[in-house]
Amino acid sequence: MWVFLNDRFVRQEEAMVSVFDHGFLYGDGVYETLRAYGGRLFRLRQHLARLRRSASLIGLDVPLVEQNLIGVLQEAMTRNDLFDAYLRITVSRGEGNIGLDPRLCSRPTVVVICLPLPPYPAELFTTGVSLAIVNVRRNLAAALPPMIKSLNFLNNILAKQEASRADAFDGLMLNGEGHITECTTSNVFFVKNGCVCTPSVTCGILDGITREIVLALARQQEFSTEEGCYLPDALLEADECFLTNTTMEIMPVRDIDKRPIGKERPGAVTGRLRELFRVNLPRFLE
Ligand code: PLP
Repeated sequence: MWVFLNDRFVRQEEAMVSVFDHGFLYGDGVYETLRAYGGRLFRLRQHLARLRRSASLIGLDVPLVEQNLIGVLQEAMTRNDLFDAYLRITVSRGEGNIGLDPRLCSRPTVVVICLPLPPYPAELFTTGVSLAIVNVRRNLAAALPPMIKSLNFLNNILAKQEASRADAFDGLMLNGEGHITECTTSNVFFVKNGCVCTPSVTCGILDGITREIVLALARQQEFSTEEGCYLPDALLEADECFLTNTTMEIMPVRDIDKRPIGKERPGAVTGRLRELFRVNLPRFLE
């Protein structure tokens, strides 16, 4: 496996980052996960813009200009001979002395990895997955805004551990007010009486790129849509529920806290949105 590290591609075995890297010491850095279909990247510009937004919100400069980053992503695919791929760009504060002050680090560390897509069993897209509403709350937006896609992922890891203990595919986190937010690496939607609903970004979530597409497709299809603040009961009483992210696309949810959601799986609206996503996919590839 070839990995891009700072200014060149190296073999995975040689792709080493210093133990003094502030990404390692403090989780000080940002990242993006991308997906390629036949060598073309899904919503590339939006992912790169979100990387820069995350970086700018923590006062970090991404050292590579857009065109070079795109070149690196493409070379990562060709070198690894992987065109249906998972790609991850990580930018950390870089190597520096012990201490929290970012000025201790003179140069950010940039890593690009390219791997086969995570193997979600195909039947999950029909049967749906189980969720657990976890006790771990989503980071308070005023403390560590979920809009920053940061290397500091312990909030989500704690939620994932709790979900695994409950035998669930993933954990759904509530915010400080008890409203539903998102899962550990995906946005959540539910359908009630034909209306496609999802927590508003003001609830403290990452504004997912797939979430935005699903909302647009639903509106084009003349489904009503709503972004709001919802208590868990709204979800438990929904007709359908599904998750979205770049690598999974649209994943139906079968049950939440062991309570079945809706009657048919995948639900009619979820199935329709999955179809629309697939049909329109070429428009989203760059
Ligand atoms: N929410 C969280 C916490 C995530 O980590 C992700 C993606 O990794 C998402 C939502 C979905 O975002 P996107 O659709 O842009 O992949």
